[in-house]
Amino acid sequence: MNIDIQKYKNILETELKRLESEILEVAEKEGDSTWEAKQLEEEDKSDRVDVANSIETYESNVSIAENLEREIIDIRHALEKIESDAFGTCEICQAEIEEERLDAKPESRTCEAHMN
Ligand SMILES: [Zn+2]
Repeated sequence: MNIDIQKYKNILETELKRLESEILEVAEKEGDSTWEAKQLEEEDKSDRVDVANSIETYESNVSIAENLEREIIDIRHALEKIESDAFGTCEICQAEIEEERLDAKPESRTCEAHMN
């Protein structure tokens, strides 16, 4: 394999930092476990409209946080593959993942044929 692992490592680490600061805007970590979406403070829920808005904000925070968390998991996983020399290998057929695919998405777990 002649791919530039260091290049992908830099991209993944930068992306991980960006996502981790982004998820802090919508969620907070409960101890060491999972992310919890933020809820508005009590005083913001003074009338019915505010309550509706607050539920809406909470629900959109939940889905944003879920998407970010999924990306964070994928990126951490890719960084672990770098550590164990498995980076760039399809997790289904063990073939090398196409370089264009890694360029577009360094955290790809599979080759083109096994995506989804
Ligand atoms: Zn494959």
